[in-house]
Amino acid sequence: MLKLIFFLFLLFIFVTVYSFKKRIDNILDALFPPKQRKNTNSQPEELVKCATCGVYLPKHDAVKKIKFNGEIIYFCSKECKNNYKKG
Ligand SMILES: [Zn+2]
Repeated sequence: MLKLIFFLFLLFIFVTVYSFKKRIDNILDALFPPKQRKNTNSQPEELVKCATCGVYLPKHDAVKKIKFNGEIIYFCSKECKNNYKKG
């Protein structure tokens, strides 16, 4: 009889710990989303306009130039950047 109670007690502990662990995993997922979710960029890439030819391109592909007044201007290529200097 004592063995049976002990067995049921172990089973109870196991079920409790298991459900508790599942709950903690859910909380951790909510607090710290997996890295895969961070990498999927839900927001569209910001587009910038080439100051020379007027083409729109993603900001990370653009060639940047910072003007003396702190304003940042973008170019689609180094050629356009050079052409802007000339012009
Ligand atoms: Zn351009």
